[in-house]
Amino acid sequence: FGDKFKQPKGSWNCSVCLLQNKAEDSKCVACQSEKPGFSVPVTSSSASASSGGFLDLDKFKMPEGNWECEVCLVQNKAEATKCIACENAKPGTKAELK
Ligand SMILES: [Zn+2]
Ligand SMILES: [Zn+2]
Repeated sequence: FGDKFKQPKGSWNCSVCLLQNKAEDSKCVACQSEKPGFSVPVTSSSASASSGGFLDLDKFKMPEGNWECEVCLVQNKAEATKCIACENAKPGTKAELK
């Protein structure tokens, strides 16, 4: 019986750290790298809106949602409501009353 060390069906080896992972793991349990061949579903919610091609440069240089302070030009995260450097309010932030 040489089956002892055979991989269980569906198991896979991490291409980064070579750890054997279970079939149900979609990421390496050790290094969190993606399962080889595991297709990550790309969010296509904005696919229809990308036909215009405008703001391509902006999309390229900063993560979606990030914003640049118009006062000191520091780049802030999307969740920041004011500039981390000068505390200027995020442009376009409207205090809408409900
Ligand atoms: Zn790994
Ligand atoms: Zn600022």
